[in-house]
Amino acid sequence: MGALTGRTALVTGGSRGIGRAIAERLAADGATVAVHYGRSAAAADEVVEGIRAKGGTAFTVHAELGAEGDVATLWESFDRQVLEHATSTGLDILVNNAGVTPRGEIDETTAEAFEEAVTVNMRAPFFLTQQALKRLRDGGRIVNVSSGATRIALTDIIAYAMTKGAIDAFSLTLAKALGPRGITVNSVAPGIIDTDINASWLRGNEAAERSAAELSALGRVGRPEDVADVVAFLASDDARWVTGQVLDATGGSQL
Ligand code: NDP
Repeated sequence: MGALTGRTALVTGGSRGIGRAIAERLAADGATVAVHYGRSAAAADEVVEGIRAKGGTAFTVHAELGAEGDVATLWESFDRQVLEHATSTGLDILVNNAGVTPRGEIDETTAEAFEEAVTVNMRAPFFLTQQALKRLRDGGRIVNVSSGATRIALTDIIAYAMTKGAIDAFSLTLAKALGPRGITVNSVAPGIIDTDINASWLRGNEAAERSAAELSALGRVGRPEDVADVVAFLASDDARWVTGQVLDATGGSQL
């Protein structure tokens, strides 16, 4: 029996990067995992196949966040499939992970890039969670993936940092609202993690990798699993007395 056996989880943006590692870790802990994706259907299928190959249970849920009816599409797909994979309807763990990182100083940020960040990073978690509440069982968990950029001023991702600051306020406030139901709500704030989001400036650029590694007290760039393990803790019974918090998972960046 794993720590999450009998629980059902939904991970947004589970097709790639940090979300993929979270989906794999929650499944390894015994949860039935709904792996949400937007554009990367093949990658999401691969995540599900990998989980099943290890004896876990998972299925994909498609919804392009920001498209018309995105929230309804996601939950309809979840509701339609969940009973094929779990013993009951409903949800125990919601991980709002999907995100985009528009790059640019304040004078370089276009209205389109700003809108996309707000839509995917802020609006989608808010309304996905709103519709999750009737599915989420008492004692459940909500984990919102935030960013170390809310603590460390990185001027070239200013719009992104704003959206993640909003997520932290969401976690704090929702934790109070859902406390009476025994549901905890927390943010996890990763530092620089080697995923596609950073590929354009990080991968294959030795100087960039070195300076990214030097940001962390632990002297390396983070891996998706470094974040997934923290999310798994917050999703577990061990974290039952932790709510409304931002858990820094930046490897001690800029301490
Ligand atoms: P990736 O780019 O590797 O993956 C992003 C994921 O989000 C994909 O699964 C993608 O799905 C999904 N996604 C993005 N936009 C949409 C959309 N419009 N509709 C549906 N799904 C969408 O990013 P990371 O894994 O690096 O980031 C995951 C989270 O971690 C984000 O919230 C990010 O802000 C946060 N974070 C990342 C850090 C890092 O250094 N990597 C640092 C701090 C925070 P698909 O491909 O299927 O469309």
